Amino acid sequence: MKLIDSCNRILNYLRISITDRCNLKCQYCSPRHLIPKLSHEEILSYEEILHLVRIAVQLGISKVRITGGEPLIRKGVHEFIQELHQVDGICDISLTTNGVLLKDNVDALIAAGLHRINISLDTLDPEKFMKITGVDAFDRVWEGIQKAYQAGLSPIKINTVALRHFNDFELEDIARLSFAYPFHFRFIEYMPIGMSEQEMSDSLYTPEIKQRLTDRIGELIPVEHQITDGPAERFRFEGAPGEVGFISAMSHHFCHTCNRLRLTASGQLRSCLLSDHQEDLKTPLRGGASDEALSAIFLNAAKMKGVQHGLTADMPVRVSGQMSSIGG
Ligand code: SAM
Repeated sequence: MKLIDSCNRILNYLRISITDRCNLKCQYCSPRHLIPKLSHEEILSYEEILHLVRIAVQLGISKVRITGGEPLIRKGVHEFIQELHQVDGICDISLTTNGVLLKDNVDALIAAGLHRINISLDTLDPEKFMKITGVDAFDRVWEGIQKAYQAGLSPIKINTVALRHFNDFELEDIARLSFAYPFHFRFIEYMPIGMSEQEMSDSLYTPEIKQRLTDRIGELIPVEHQITDGPAERFRFEGAPGEVGFISAMSHHFCHTCNRLRLTASGQLRSCLLSDHQEDLKTPLRGGASDEALSAIFLNAAKMKGVQHGLTADMPVRVSGQMSSIGG
């Protein structure tokens, strides 16, 4: 049996949130006031995650992304990646990080078997960085990006959530970096997930960003879509070694191409980031359920995957789970 949903989408990609904790407090991701964090016992252990990954591989999962919260703050992440690397059938291991701890981790991550990395960076201005994340760490992130580049990780994807009144006038500066670096700079539309202090009215959607970049930099030349691309629409400017991309979950959803399942830090399986439906894997796993019973939960999650998410740019409803726990 394979993970194929009711729309015949083949689900071969598992995103794993290994912690709900983060060393940044991005305004659009988590509220500044303290929200309860999962206790150590509530979070799946690496052994438990690996057990579930082995089951998922039997059902067709071949790609995994490690995320959070901030994955690099969880102890033992290198060893975990090494173990993942040894799971037969996993052919792609990637990581999403805010980059704060990247510089000192790059070599160990590569040695452990990490294939690809996405780094989140919403501004090139250290003061604005502090304003949006609550932490003065722009330089550390930039050094981490440079270190990942020098170490040969490729492609390096830089993710920027586009927000009016925050980074709208910087988006072209970020896009211009594609002339200097062979990175993929991707602009992400804000999604209303969990508690956050972000005004929905500050969302900036792809058509407006594309227009700004075209007016100020030049024609966006489409890059041929590869089967491994994921949801980003890819472009480059004439003469640039890098790319710019757009992830338009709100203005132009890409649900028909979605191949993902998500394992939350607390062991819940979600078939859609933007739906609160989830299947509990942790309770049966800890209760000694057979691999067959756990496989049935994976298959059920696939069956429950909606045709498309219910959020739209003009009538957004908030998803109640926190992004840090679900895994961005
Ligand atoms: N800590 C890591 C990081 O910052 O990359 C991984 C987790 S973070 C939740 C993953 C990505 O989700 C980041 O690029 C972040 O900007 C993005 N993100 C968080 N909340 C979001 C939201 N409400 N809408 C769109 N993207 C969001």
